[in-house]
Amino acid sequence: MLKRILVTGGAGFLGSHLCERLLDAGNEVLCVDNFFTGTRRNVSHLLDRKPFEILRHDITFPLYVEVDEIYNLACPASPIHYQFDPVQTTKTSVMGAINMLGLAKRLKAKVLQASTSEVYGDPVEHPQREEYWGNVNPVGIRACYDEGKRCAETLFFDYIRQHQLPAKVVRIFNTYGPRMHPNDGRVVSNFVVQALKGEDITIYGDGSQSRSFCYVDEIVEAMIRMMATPPEVTGPINIGNPVEFTILDLARMVIEITGSKSQIRFKDLPSDDPKQRQPDITRARAELGWEPKIELREGLTKTIAYFEELLLNPNVVPRP
Ligand code: NAD
Ligand code: UDP
Ligand code: UDP
Repeated sequence: MLKRILVTGGAGFLGSHLCERLLDAGNEVLCVDNFFTGTRRNVSHLLDRKPFEILRHDITFPLYVEVDEIYNLACPASPIHYQFDPVQTTKTSVMGAINMLGLAKRLKAKVLQASTSEVYGDPVEHPQREEYWGNVNPVGIRACYDEGKRCAETLFFDYIRQHQLPAKVVRIFNTYGPRMHPNDGRVVSNFVVQALKGEDITIYGDGSQSRSFCYVDEIVEAMIRMMATPPEVTGPINIGNPVEFTILDLARMVIEITGSKSQIRFKDLPSDDPKQRQPDITRARAELGWEPKIELREGLTKTIAYFEELLLNPNVVPRP
């Protein structure tokens, strides 16, 4: 059945892929974005497709539209972007969640929150299960993002308990792929752009810290599956790739695939940088019938092809 679906942050990296998938499935999509980190270019190829609409709007302000489902993705996600205006980051997570929950409540619509593995902070439990409460510094430089997202989760579960809202939370782990912002400082985009330009690859710390990287299409699939679950499936559910790599492994793989002559340069580790991160996806397997299949090498090859084209012609965003 055709649905009217709102995607906040729809002009961003994950949001643009989600809008595309939802349109492909025959839905009507309303993309709401204030273009802080997202761009019209990310969704320009969807503009000539009906029924797709873009609305410039900041979700810290109320929004009155009529839709059947809401995916709440609006929030800067990379440290340099969310630390640029930390107060606005917290407002986006907290006031944005209140507005999207209020909207969902009025419409009796399903609403899904894009939460994050950062709610676990620098985890002392490994891999991270949803039952783990996390280890977040509430006054550090990452707190605007981590605590904002934690508070958004609190609001989601209070609206579920207090208003019987069909609301859902997924905790997304590090995701990569085409349409990542080339200058947002995240490790995959940094390394790929540095390798393609023949510049030094900047490893923060000694590169022994680890992350688990999931290809964007698989995260989009998991979000769509989560939205389709019955109301009693609320999450939180971890979605991410459980295969863990050190940052040094990643640098070597990028150099190998690109055939770059770049050298590795070690720089200072930023404060509060988590040492390791790996999702336990037992719940996602059981409740969504989902697990990632795309290996890092395969996903990186597609991502590198995207950035190669982007660097050749920055005005044209290549279609993945
Ligand atoms: P992104 O920066 O590419 O996209 C975020 C989008 O939200 C951008 O288009 C931005 O302009 C928009 N936005 C920001 N503040 C807004 C506001 N106040 N009102 C309206 N729009 C606003 O980031 P992304 O990687 O696509 O992340 C999307 C969501 O997924 C975020 O909520 C992020 O926290 C979450 N997430 C992403 C990752 C990842 O690895 N990419 C991991 C965990 C969670
Ligand atoms: N809201 C919105 N769109 C709507 C309905 C509500 O943006 O269609 C906002 C509204 O600004 C309100 C918030 O969502 O502040 C929370 O709504 P709720 O009904 O839960 O609370 P209340 O209106 O009682 O504050
Ligand atoms: N990182 C790095 N070099 C870079 C960018 C990031 O070594 O040019 C490291 C960073 O310190 C962290 C890891 O890579 O340990 C992942 O960083 P990212 O910002 O992509 O994600 P997050 O820390 O939010 O998981």
